[in-house]
Amino acid sequence: MSDLTVLIAGGAGFIGSHLCDALVERGDGVVCVDNLITGGRRNVSHLDDRPGFRFVDCDVAALTEEALGAAGIDPSTLDVMVNLASPASPRDYRALPLETLHAGSVGTTALLELARATSARFVLGSTSEVYGDPHQHPQVETYWGNVNPIGERSVYDEAKRFGEAVTSAYHRRHELDCAIVRIFNTYGPRMKLDDGRVVTNFVGQALRGEPLTVYGDGSQTRSLCYVDDLVRGLMATIDADSYGPYNLGNPIELTILELAGLVLELTGSDSTAVKLPLPADDPHRRRPDITRAHADLGWEPKVGLREGLLATIESLRRDLDT
Ligand code: UDP
Repeated sequence: MSDLTVLIAGGAGFIGSHLCDALVERGDGVVCVDNLITGGRRNVSHLDDRPGFRFVDCDVAALTEEALGAAGIDPSTLDVMVNLASPASPRDYRALPLETLHAGSVGTTALLELARATSARFVLGSTSEVYGDPHQHPQVETYWGNVNPIGERSVYDEAKRFGEAVTSAYHRRHELDCAIVRIFNTYGPRMKLDDGRVVTNFVGQALRGEPLTVYGDGSQTRSLCYVDDLVRGLMATIDADSYGPYNLGNPIELTILELAGLVLELTGSDSTAVKLPLPADDPHRRRPDITRAHADLGWEPKVGLREGLLATIESLRRDLDT
């Protein structure tokens, strides 16, 4: 049981909406803020009649005490602000490059300013992309990363790196109670079938009987975390008073070709695979070292890959049918 009031910027997105669910479920007040450019109102519409849940249609960069007041929310009641507001799939941030830079920079700063004005704890949803195409493996939080500052992915990577820098500056300059979490590849129900990410592409293709699009030779790796595990890590960070940064992800690493095989097996599909060019600057490998999150937050993922993929396949199958 908890009685916090938590503002979640990007709360109608994939991860944000699951966080809204979990916080409402344990009795917290939730103010879900989203401009819906990549999030979906229907991801949280089932919460509309739950006491303590409020939805505010607003760009994080425009979020001020006045804007909240106009929406009927007293900013002084907010205990924690979580910033998950950004396009997050490579397809989305390539299509929305300036919006992504704006959300990560102006948006993060606006939310920090609001947290400072209301003395709320601030949790930044950062990303494993701050490590870029990493030279250190697995990635520990002390690694500074290898990012191409002018490549197509830079709009996301550098916006998140700026977000970490400005959060750290508020922490030092204003002694703001802050935390940074670096979110690794996460999957689960409510991902958009057309968002271009590997799990949704492969599952959608397998269910439709289309070839699975493997980019490059498929030897690149990712470590996939089920959304429920990730949300438990976010909640532990909300409840803690430490700063991190914390890697949140599942250290079980597999190649993209292995993932394609697993999706074919679990869907029972007889689709084949087709190789397409590797996108520019696509990281070759990625795996979180989660020693710090385990030590400080007592957090570790619990859902196995097969179990998580089966739940995701079932949910995406329903989305395909509707
Ligand atoms: N990928 C792929 N086929 C697809 C979509 C993605 O082979 O249809 C690869 C992509 O090149 C990358 C990995 O899968 O190496 C993960 O891509 P995703 O877009 O899911 O997330 P990222 O980790 O790159 O942000």
